[in-house]
Amino acid sequence: QWIFLSGEFVTKQEASISVYDHGFLYGDGVFEGIRAYEGNIFKLDEHLNRLYDSAKSVMLEIPYSKEELEEIIAETIRKNELESAYIRVVVSRGIGDLGLNPVSCSKPRLVVIAEALSLFSKELYERGVRLASVASRRNRPDVLPPQVKSLNYLNNILVKMEANQAGVDEALMLNDQGYVTEGSADNVFIVKNGKIYTPPVYLGALEGITRNAIIDIADELGYQIMEQPFTRHDVYVADEVFLTGTAAEVIAAVEVDRRIIGDGKPGTITNHLLSEFRKVTTKDGHK
Ligand code: PLP
Repeated sequence: QWIFLSGEFVTKQEASISVYDHGFLYGDGVFEGIRAYEGNIFKLDEHLNRLYDSAKSVMLEIPYSKEELEEIIAETIRKNELESAYIRVVVSRGIGDLGLNPVSCSKPRLVVIAEALSLFSKELYERGVRLASVASRRNRPDVLPPQVKSLNYLNNILVKMEANQAGVDEALMLNDQGYVTEGSADNVFIVKNGKIYTPPVYLGALEGITRNAIIDIADELGYQIMEQPFTRHDVYVADEVFLTGTAAEVIAAVEVDRRIIGDGKPGTITNHLLSEFRKVTTKDGHK
């Protein structure tokens, strides 16, 4: 396996980073998770725009242009002889002193990893996942904006651990006012009486690229889809609940806080959106 690390391709065994890298010391950096389907990189422009916006927001200069990074990503996939892949792009502040001041970091580092996909099992899509709302809250959008996909993912890791401890598959994260925001690494949607709802990102959710693709697809299919705040109650009484994300695509949630959602099986609208989404992933890609 070949990994792009600061200007060259190295093997997985050789791909290591200094302990003085502020990405390691302080989580100072940004990242993206991208997916290639049969040689097409899905929504690459959107992912790169989000990466550069994340970096700009934390005053981190990515040492490559978008065009150069596009080429590096494509080359990483080619070099690893992959067709379908999960791609991780990481930009860290780079090597500096022990102090947290980024001024001591001379050069940001870019890492691109492409791996064969380890997909969620078919069985999980057929059965649906179980969720639990957790005590940890989404960080406030005015403190560390969820739009910044920073290397500081402790918030999300904590909620994932709470879900593990609750014995379920994924967490349902609320904001400090109790509104539903998202999962640990996916966006959340509910369906009630044929209408689809997802929380507005200002409540404290990442503006997921899959989320936006699903909003577009649902709209084109003629569903009424609304970005609207909702609480756990609305989730409990929904007809369908589903999550979206680059890795998960669209996956039904059939149990939330031990309440069965709808009839306990992935719903028809969820299944419809998943099958339409899978039609566009290969078609709308970037070669
Ligand atoms: N929410 C969070 C916190 C995430 O980390 C991710 C994954 O990137 C998502 C939602 C889903 O976003 P996307 O569809 O862009 O993968």
